[in-house]
Amino acid sequence: MSEKKESTADSEAKSRAVAEDSREEEWTSPSFVQELFLGNFRLDLIHPYPAQSEADKAKTDAYLEKLEAFLRENVNPTEIDRTGEIPAEVLDGLRKIGVFGLKIPEEYGGVGLSQIGYGRAIELITSWDGNLTALISAHQSIGVPQPLKMFGTPEQKKKYLPRLAAGAVSAFALTEKSVGSDPARVTTTAVESEDGSEFILNGEKLWCTNGTIAELLVVMARTKPKLKNGREIPQITAFIVEASSPGVEVTHRCRFMGLKAIQNAVIKLDNVRVPKENILWAEGKGLKLALMTLNTGRLTLPMSATAGAKICTEITRKWASERVQWGAPIGKHEAVAKMLGEMAANAFAIEAMAELSCLLADRGSNDIRLEAAIAKLWTTEVGWKIVDDTLQVRGGRGYETEESLKARGEVSVPVERLMRDFRINRIFEGSSEIMKLFIAREAVDTHLAVAGELIDPSTSSKDRAAAFARAGAFYATWLPKQYVGWGHWPRYGEFGKLAPWFRYIERGSKKLARNMFYAMSRYQAKLERKQALLGRFVDIGAELFAMAATCVRADALRAQGGPEGEKAVRLASIFCRQARMRVDNLFHQLFNNVDASTYRFAQEVLRGEHAWLEEGVFQMIPDGARLAPEPPATAPAGEAPMAVPSGQ
Ligand SMILES: Cc1cc2nc3c(=O)[nH]c(=O)nc-3n(C[C@H](O)[C@H](O)[C@H](O)COP(=O)(O)OP(=O)(O)OC[C@H]3O[C@@H](n4cnc5c(N)ncnc54)[C@H](O)[C@@H]3O)c2cc1C
Repeated sequence: MSEKKESTADSEAKSRAVAEDSREEEWTSPSFVQELFLGNFRLDLIHPYPAQSEADKAKTDAYLEKLEAFLRENVNPTEIDRTGEIPAEVLDGLRKIGVFGLKIPEEYGGVGLSQIGYGRAIELITSWDGNLTALISAHQSIGVPQPLKMFGTPEQKKKYLPRLAAGAVSAFALTEKSVGSDPARVTTTAVESEDGSEFILNGEKLWCTNGTIAELLVVMARTKPKLKNGREIPQITAFIVEASSPGVEVTHRCRFMGLKAIQNAVIKLDNVRVPKENILWAEGKGLKLALMTLNTGRLTLPMSATAGAKICTEITRKWASERVQWGAPIGKHEAVAKMLGEMAANAFAIEAMAELSCLLADRGSNDIRLEAAIAKLWTTEVGWKIVDDTLQVRGGRGYETEESLKARGEVSVPVERLMRDFRINRIFEGSSEIMKLFIAREAVDTHLAVAGELIDPSTSSKDRAAAFARAGAFYATWLPKQYVGWGHWPRYGEFGKLAPWFRYIERGSKKLARNMFYAMSRYQAKLERKQALLGRFVDIGAELFAMAATCVRADALRAQGGPEGEKAVRLASIFCRQARMRVDNLFHQLFNNVDASTYRFAQEVLRGEHAWLEEGVFQMIPDGARLAPEPPATAPAGEAPMAVPSGQ
């Protein structure tokens, strides 16, 4: 092996080791979605529907009423978008009504909402102004309160939670110029002082939301490496940092295509002295803390997507029934009707998936990593399609700003703003591509535990023989189950019109498990490089989860009685019909695709062999200019291992 190759492999192994070390593993009940990937449709994990308690609902409803009145009376979203600023009075007002303590327990001065209660508040806020969602979510979905609640000492909680609940804004600082989706490579350093009482932080953080106004930051920094099996494992530690500390400097406020008023900063840390007692959890636990924080933190985005989906459905429905072209309301033309029919069904599914994931998080015992990750991935992807279709159906008016519409006498419908604000959801808190890798890694976890050593080229022949025997015993019982079992009528008959869909999900889950097993046997260790194939597995799992969520939610609504129950069953059935088409196509494409030739062609494009097709227009990037910052000295080359962490 060449010296370069050695260091690359070593570096990749380090990245993988850090990521593996940081996976959350402490749960008492299994994950519904993980079981789905294993061919076990565990309906008992989501049915009976894990409903919100009456007391929690009453508390949430009372708070939402107050919040709605505040937003209506005090917040002008058009103005915030135009000026790029959230007025100081709005920030103060939000503090007064306790928005910064929504998820902080009452004993520390917070409102103490449950995950679903908080999610409902986020849904309402997003439907009014996405900038406020970014502010509140960066503060308490990922900022100091969430990891502090989960990992803080009693002293830390007593010291900081009341301050945070009262409105001391916080932020989460992980990303750096060279460290985006692969946070294990953080370069900011934290070195212990000589007397051991402090750590001295140096580095620069990028895109830190709330960074310009935050009083408190959670900063991820690299501390002394740990030795594991003779290998140096980099350690990342989380620190609570007072933004007023000497050496903390906001060097730039970043501006974006949407979320114009987001207070997002580049923050320089120059010999910042942080007391040792400000370490969150423990030295070396920073990445795990960040990933565990995100496991629930990322449930905010599905609730935001729910808001976007509902607003868009309302706008499209009203516009498509009023706007007449070619002698008929445009909603009567099939091309537009198709978009609206898919939109309404998807809006129902987005809410079902988001709500179910929050309710499972509130239950506390279930492993919800996969549910939260799929909810983040699927609802933001489908939500984006909904926003795009809304703009399309609105035609030229969709592209026109709300102020321009108003100035010429039309209703100021903010589709253009909505689109700009929504787009980032597919990138932050784990980009869609990284979410797929994370989900795929968790989905095959049982297979890796059972047969991982068999596909690991570094396993010795003695260990391989033992692993072979272990895997043989597991698959001798697991594999036949994926082929047998009754997934047809009259199973699930108690669900009436929804029964066929439960049967379809059960059969789909087994088919998915069989195909994943086949792919593992066929590609072995190379499977982790087959991102397009893994992506299809994830997409199938996501659609099946969406079908299950819509069906159990519709069933719960039907059980409550009232006319909406039957309508919910209709919505769920329509959604499932549409989802079945997608699932069937995805199954077909698993091993009938052009992935390999497209990949080879993309490498030709990367090498510049087709740069000739870019001729005839202005060149965007001057010759010699470098777009990407230099990677850190230890960055791995080549593709990422499947064990990538979940990004932020
Ligand atoms: C408005 C905004 C607010 C933000 N707020 C915060 C914050 O508060 N705190 C914070 O720490 N960070 C924050 N971020 C950073 C955000 O989380 C990152 O942008 C995100 O993690 C992606 O990193 P990146 O932009 O560097 O993309 P890169 O990692 O450079 O990725 C570029 C592209 O390559 C893809 N890609 C990367 N690796 C792989 C792979 N292994 N396989 C397949 N595809 C891959 C990505 O999906 C993406 O499409 C914010 C960013 C923005 C724009």
